[in-house]
Amino acid sequence: MAKIFCVANQKGGVGKTTTTVNLAAGLSKIGQRVLMIDLDPQGNATMGSGVDKRALAYTAYDVLWGNATLEEAKVHSDASGYDVLGANRELAGAEVELVSVDNRENRLKDAIAVVANNYDFVLIDCPPSLNMLTLNGLCAAHGVIVPMQCEYFALEGLSDLVNTIKQVHGNLNKNLELIGLLRVMFDPRITLQQQVSDQIKSHFGEKVFNAVIPRNVRLAEAPSYGLPGVVFDPAAKGSLAFIEFAHEMVQRMGSKR
Ligand code: ADP
Ligand code: MG
Repeated sequence: MAKIFCVANQKGGVGKTTTTVNLAAGLSKIGQRVLMIDLDPQGNATMGSGVDKRALAYTAYDVLWGNATLEEAKVHSDASGYDVLGANRELAGAEVELVSVDNRENRLKDAIAVVANNYDFVLIDCPPSLNMLTLNGLCAAHGVIVPMQCEYFALEGLSDLVNTIKQVHGNLNKNLELIGLLRVMFDPRITLQQQVSDQIKSHFGEKVFNAVIPRNVRLAEAPSYGLPGVVFDPAAKGSLAFIEFAHEMVQRMGSKR
C-alpha cells in the first residue's frame, strides 16, 4: 500500500512544486514506485515532470469529477521515472463545481484507493491556498510535507496550516499528520536564515527533516527543460540534497511500519 503525502503550504513560491517533482524523481531513482498528482491548476508540476499539460487526454479534473479513473488518466514520464496525474487550467473549475457535490472532500481519496497497491509513494502537489482542492489532498493523505524558506515571516503562515491539519485530522481524516518541515532555498551564509532555522528546530523538533535543500540555480533551471533537477543535473548540490531527502523519507516510513 502506498504512503500518500501532500506537499502543502498556502504561500506561493515557497518551493512546493520543486519539492514534489524532485522528491518524486529522487524516490524513483532509489527504486520506489511513485505517482505524482498535480492539484495546482497552474500545472507546473506536470510540465516540470516532462508532461505537456496542453496535450493531456485526462487531468486531475476528470478524476475528481468522475469522468475518468486514475488508472485511465495517469501517464508515465519516461524522463522523470514516475507516473503523473496531470493538471491544467481546467482544474480551476473543480474548485467551484465540487462545492455542490456529494462526498466532495473525499473524491481524490476514493480515486487513489483503487491504485494504491501499485505504488510505494503518492505525492500530491497542492495549490497555494487552503481550498477544496487542497482539502481533497489532505483528506487523501497520510501526511503533509511542508517546504519552507527560513525567513522571518515563514513561521507566521505556518500556524494557519498547522491548524488546518489539526482540523482535518479531527473531523475528516484521522490518518493525517504533519510529517515534517523541509527547509528549502537555504543559504547558510545568511545569518537570519540560520537563526530562523534554529528557531524552527527548537519549535518543531523531530518534525524538522534532517535534509536541507540549498538555494541552487540548477533546480530553478530544470523546469524549463521539462525535467526535475534530480534528473537534469544529478550532481548539482540541490539534486544531491533531494536524493538525501528521498532516503530520509524511505527511512522514516520504514521505521513506522
Ligand atoms: P511553489 O510551488 O510553492 O509556488 P516553486 O517550487 O514553484 O514554488 O518555487 C518557486 C520558484 O523558486 C521557482 O522559480 C523555483 O524554480 C525556485 N526554486 C525553488 N526551490 C529552489 C532552490 N532550492 N534553489 C533555487 N531556486 C529554487
Ligand atoms: Mg507550485
